[in-house]
This record gives sequence, structure tokens and C-alpha cells, in this order.
Amino acid sequence: MDLGIAGKWALVCAASKGLGRGCAEALAREGVNVVITARGEEALQATAAALRALNPAVQVRTVAGDITTEAGRTAALAAAPQVDILVNNAGGPPPGDFRDWGREAWLAALEANMITPIELIRATVDAMAARGFGRVVNITSSAVKAPIDFLGLSNGARSGLTGFVAGTARQSRLAAAGVTINNLLPGSFDTDRLRAGFSAVAKKSGQPLEGVSEARRKLVPAQRFGTAAEFGAYCAFLCSVHASYVTGQNLLIDGGAYPGAY
Ligand code: NAP
Repeated sequence: MDLGIAGKWALVCAASKGLGRGCAEALAREGVNVVITARGEEALQATAAALRALNPAVQVRTVAGDITTEAGRTAALAAAPQVDILVNNAGGPPPGDFRDWGREAWLAALEANMITPIELIRATVDAMAARGFGRVVNITSSAVKAPIDFLGLSNGARSGLTGFVAGTARQSRLAAAGVTINNLLPGSFDTDRLRAGFSAVAKKSGQPLEGVSEARRKLVPAQRFGTAAEFGAYCAFLCSVHASYVTGQNLLIDGGAYPGAY
């Protein structure tokens, strides 16, 4: 299937590794020029080289910086001649007990997982509407639909973004102008973040790392963790011309882990 987006420009935030990288790879494979960001320069350049090798016809630009800061967002936006596709992503907040989190912890989570994507949406969607095409995909979490007790910062901040998107995506000046805004909700994907979480649980509980990972894997009906490549493929489809009638949605990609019918 030709996704019909070759030649477009995408800003893919937090994309040197994991799910963001999966999205950048899938888009580059479809002929989309990409700006990728991350804080660490080395992994960012290695990913850029891999993307160029994947599709030498596309332009790949890098911006090293913290996307949760004003300066990081300004630099990321300035690197693309225009943003036709925006993939919002950043590191997730730490786990813990809400009793230990003060105002600063909450502000950091809100900045990273709610305000940053909203600021980037604000900076891009009206120009997308003026051109008659735009795609925003926010990487959130299955925890938006099925909150996890020790991920309170993530549950809270991402729910704020989810509420914002539910209203904004339905503005006719966007929806009728070819601009879609959707959230992709990952379950358990085999990335550095997932493995770091398992290591923390193993360390705290004294269980072997393999045991922690296996116990989690068995909870997924698909009996495996997702891959960044399949996450990226779903993202690329949402960014395609074929997904123009999908907006304001929260789309789970979790191997069947969410137990509800709706
Ligand atoms: P990952 O493998 O750890 O990759 C994170 C990427 O984001 C790296 O490229 C990292 O590079 C970059 N990054 C992190 N913070 C950044 C910042 N402030 N500014 C710019 N770049 C930043 O993580 P992942 O598993 O792909 O997770 C991506 C998002 O999905 C996170 O919000 C996570 O909470 C959420 N999520 C993941 C899963 C899962 O199973 N993997 C499930 C639910 C939700 P640098 O560190 O060099 O900046």
C-alpha cells in the first residue's frame, strides 16, 4: 500500500531509540523527510545514519536537545522547512508513590507529557490546516485507559493531554481541513525503558530479572512484547492519506492486554 506521504516533512520527537525511532524508521521508509530529536548526541547521530541508509532518498535532520524545554522545542521546530507530520514523544515520568511527589515532580511530568505536546501542536496545526494536510500522533500509554497504581505521574499528565486532544481534534477548522490528531497507546514494548523498569523491579524485589520479564510477558495475550517496528508501522498508517477520517482517537497497541471490549 502506498501511504501517499512521500516528500512530506515529519518532526519525530524523542526518536533516537525505542518507539520514537520506530516511528521515524517507518516514516522514512515511506519517503517522508524527518527531523529527529533526543538529548544524547551519539545515539541520535547513529539513528540518523541508520535512517539515511534505510532510505537514501529522504532528508534526515537531527536536533540534540531536551524537547521538554522551550529552547528544545524551538530548535526542533526550526529544523524543518514545514511540519506536515508531528509525532509527539518524550521520556515517561518515573514510577513511585504519590506520597513522595511534591509540586516539582508534578510540574516536570506535566511539562514533559502534557504541555510539551500541546505547545508543539499549537505551533504546527494551523499551518497544517492552511496547507490542507496534517497529522499529529501523540505517543501516550495504555495506562491512560487502564491506569497503573505506581505510575501516577504518567496517568495524571497523560490524561490531561488526552482530554485536550479529545476536544481540539474535533475543531472543524482542523478536522475539516485535513488535520488529524490521534493518540497511540503502547502496552508493553521491548525498549530500553521497559527493560529499565524490569531491572528496577528486580532490584527492589530481589527477584531475578528474567523472572520479572517473564511474569509480565505472560500477562499479554499475545505472549510477547511489542516491537518498535510494529509500533512505527501503525504510526505511519495513521499519518497516511488513508487515515484521513480517523481523528480524536485513543488507539491501543498492546497485544490484547487491555481487557475491556471498549
Ligand atoms: P526509550 O526506549 O527509553 O526511548 C526514549 C527516547 O526518547 C530516546 O531516544 C531518548 O533519548 C528520548 N528522550 C527521552 N527524554 C527526552 C527528552 N526530554 N527530550 C528529547 N528526547 C528525549 O523509551 P520508549 O519505550 O520508546 O518510550 C517512549 C514513550 O512511550 C515514553 O514516554 C514511555 O513512557 C511511553 N511508553 C512506553 C511503553 C513501553 O512499553 N516501551 C509503554 C507505555 C508507554 P535521550 O535519552 O538521549 O534523550
